[in-house]
Amino acid sequence: MEVTLLKSTEDPEEAICTAARNDYMSDWVGEKGFEEIMETVEGDTIEEKQYTLISHLLKHGHFGPFEHPKAVFAVKGISRSCMAQITRHRHVSFDVQSMRYVSFDDVDPDDVGDGEMVVIPHSVNDPDWIGRNQKGGAVDEETVEKRRRVFEASVTESVDAYQQLLDLGVPPEDARFVLPIGTKVNMVMSMNLRMLMHVADMRAAADAQWEIRELTETVLDFAEEWCPLTFKYYNENMKNRKNRLAP
Ligand SMILES: Cc1cc2nc3c(=O)[nH]c(=O)nc-3n(C[C@H](O)[C@H](O)[C@H](O)COP(=O)(O)OP(=O)(O)OC[C@H]3O[C@@H](n4cnc5c(N)ncnc54)[C@H](O)[C@@H]3O)c2cc1C
Repeated sequence: MEVTLLKSTEDPEEAICTAARNDYMSDWVGEKGFEEIMETVEGDTIEEKQYTLISHLLKHGHFGPFEHPKAVFAVKGISRSCMAQITRHRHVSFDVQSMRYVSFDDVDPDDVGDGEMVVIPHSVNDPDWIGRNQKGGAVDEETVEKRRRVFEASVTESVDAYQQLLDLGVPPEDARFVLPIGTKVNMVMSMNLRMLMHVADMRAAADAQWEIRELTETVLDFAEEWCPLTFKYYNENMKNRKNRLAP
């Protein structure tokens, strides 16, 4: 999988603080400079004042101001299974590559089961990999080799059937029914910072499924650079909360 940040709100933490100060000031923030808006907030520097205010908002569950900054990500090569999970989040906006316009013609038939067009789960190749609810330990190399063969054979057969159906005149939107759920897809997704923290709460948790966790961890890496003060507080005080409904 690859993830890149396409666009994001400039000065996101200035936007958060301005919105929050609007709630508590008699003057209108629209005609004040940022330093003036932050004048009464505790702290020696503007960064300290921002951190004071952002921590206060997060600590007290005043999450509205975090809905103003927004980020747009391009995601490459996640499985349709992972896509089904992330698209359950109703306040994230998505554009998902349509399979009707995807051709597998340029994929070498020998590479079909090789991660070229289908995501290969770690457990297929890694003898030490243990699933979320699995008991027991590592398996031997022979078992891994068998897993790999079964996986590759199944994927190759599905893709072969897909191509044959296309050749027999079945439209792509119908032929795709035989493709595996691990088939790769690209998408663009955007979300506000409140939603990003909510997705992180649910999907970066240790018990989340590994692929969506990898996706979320990468999004979080970008987010930590984009909103450093917010994630300083989040990482120190909020990360790995269990079963939070909001933000
Ligand atoms: C470990 C794990 C396992 C899961 N397993 C399954 C499964 O087996 N089957 C399955 O179907 N799903 C499963 N899910 C998906 C899960 O049930 C949620 O649908 C998904 O994570 C979306 O999150 P959300 O409910 O917080 O809603 P989001 O769409 O992310 O919305 C964010 C918040 O907005 C509020 N909200 C949004 N819409 C409404 C609404 N209509 N009514 C009230 N409040 C609303 C809620 O507070 C919600 O938490 C799983 C999720 C996880 C993390």
